Order: sequence, then C-alpha cells, then structure tokens
Amino acid sequence: MILLKGAEVSSKIKAEVLAAVSAMEGHVPTAAIVRVGERPDDVSYEKNAMKKIAAFGMEARSYVFPEDISQQEFEEKFRTINQDPQIDGILLFRPLPAQIAGRLPERLIDPKKDLDGISPINSAKIFAGEEDGFAPCTAEAVMEILKGYEIPLEGKRAVIVGRSMVVGRPLAMLLLKANATVTVCHTRTKDLKAVCREADILVAAAGKAGMITAEFAAPGAVVIDVGINVDENGKLCGDVKWEGIEEVASAATPVPGGVGSVTTAVLAKHLCQAAQRK
Ligand code: NDP
Repeated sequence: MILLKGAEVSSKIKAEVLAAVSAMEGHVPTAAIVRVGERPDDVSYEKNAMKKIAAFGMEARSYVFPEDISQQEFEEKFRTINQDPQIDGILLFRPLPAQIAGRLPERLIDPKKDLDGISPINSAKIFAGEEDGFAPCTAEAVMEILKGYEIPLEGKRAVIVGRSMVVGRPLAMLLLKANATVTVCHTRTKDLKAVCREADILVAAAGKAGMITAEFAAPGAVVIDVGINVDENGKLCGDVKWEGIEEVASAATPVPGGVGSVTTAVLAKHLCQAAQRK
C-alpha cells in the first residue's frame, strides 16, 4: 500500500508559491488571520498557519478579538480588515460566538480575499466549476493529494462520507469537475458500508474516530482520511481505522501527516493567488 504523505505534496506547493512570490517584485502577500476567543483548536491552527505562510515567503498578521465582542464592534473591525489594501487574504475562524449572528461574516468577506472559500460567491463558483474562486482549503487539499500522487479520477467512483460545507459538499464539486462519479454519504445513508465498498476513491470526513474500518474499503481503493479526532488515549487519529486497511487499500493518507498538513499549504497557495489576482 502506498502511503500518501502530505509533506511531499506540501513541498511541491511550496516551491510553486515561492517562485510566484519572488516574481511579485517586492510585494509580500499578506494575510489577516481573524480569531474571536481562545478555542485551543483555533489557536493551534493559527500557529501552524502563521508558520506555514512565513515559510512560504509571505506574511500573516493575527487579529484576536474577545469572546464577548458585540456584533456591531466585530462588524466594524472586520470591515476595516476587509477593506485594508495591505491585506491580500483573510482567514476567519468559525464557529463564531452566538452574538455574531447567522452567516454575517460569510456575506461580509470580500470574495477576492476569502482564503478558505466561505463566501457564497466562492461557493457558487465551485458549484459551477469555475476556476477563479476559492474552494475551502481542506477540500482542495484532498484534490492536491490526489493530483500529487497522480491518482486517476476520470470515470472513477468517488464516495465521500460527510456533507459539510467545509469538506464534503465542496469536495464533491471538485471531484465532479475532475470527471469522477460522486456519491455523498451522511448519517441517513442506508447501508453505508456497501456504498463505501463501491468506491475507487473513498474519502472519510465524518469526524468519527476509527469509524471507517477495512470492511468499508473495496480491494485496491484509495482511502483519504480527512478526520481529525482525539482517541480514548488522547492521541490524534483520523476517521479511518488503520488496522486492516493496509491489506485492502492500494493507497491511504495517514493522520497526522496527511490531509491536515496539505490544508495549510493550500491556505498559503490561496494567499499567493489572491495577491496575484489583485
Ligand atoms: P461536520 O460535523 O460538520 O460534518 C460531519 C459530516 O459527517 C456530516 O455530514 C455528518 O452527517 C457525517 N457523519 C457523521 N457521522 C456519520 C456517520 N456515523 N455515518 C455517516 N455520516 C456521518 O464535520 P466537518 O466536515 O467540519 O469535519 C469532518 C472531519 O474533518 C472532522 O474530524 C474534522 O476535525 C476534520 N477536518 C479536518 C480538516 C483538515 O484540515 N484535515 C479541516 C476541517 C475538518 P449529517 O450531515 O447527516 O449530520
């Protein structure tokens, strides 16, 4: 079984971004990373993203607001960042506290600076198969891994477990654009195991530690594990139970070291693209 390592894909993306940045003649693409509150997951992702962006020859500024910020104040501050000509791209951590209502930030964010593809304009572009928008970084990271390892997609059956706006849905559109035949599964899917066993490419994005066992994979399937969970021993793990998969799958991504490590590389790539498009 081939281990689909994120690091190799990331370093390819890094080389492309470094070349593109050096062609910008002095302009350093700059990201605003906007966080409300101190959720440990956000703090840790922010640290990784800042490091990655710097390693890719660009800059990231962190904007942190208190958990109890009012909607009005958040909106004002966010608008200022959104309109700042020095900021090429924005990453906003969600979910936001309850007082910041509904889908306000998604509607506010300038689609051209929308590094994680949250704006409805970018969703529509991904839905329509257009290439000048931004897809959510994780969904695109899956595509980068498949591309990086030259896994054929045309005419293949792809099954995604999970239908969130962050992973499952946009990924379905990206795979469809690549001419795969796509099935999206969720908690109401009947006989999930049988559906998964039809997949040439099986993507686990349910957020349930170890739920995808070897019985879900057809012989020779490519298994992509998007899940980031913590097991009963406090260890980071994916949605795929590794034992047994090695004997069945032709290739699989590890957790950690798979999709997650490519996600921040895609974020950096999006920042570079946002600056180029400007
Ligand atoms: P959500 O909780 O938003 O969505 C989970 C989806 O999985 C839902 O559509 C849900 O179905 C489906 N699902 C859950 N349990 C089952 C089940 N037992 N059988 C079938 N379907 C199921 O999660 P996210 O999409 O935000 O994240 C998914 C995973 O990916 C998480 O582990 C998260 O940590 C990880 N993640 C990883 C990233 C990375 O960079 N690697 C980035 C973002 C997320 P239903 O709609 O019916 O509820």
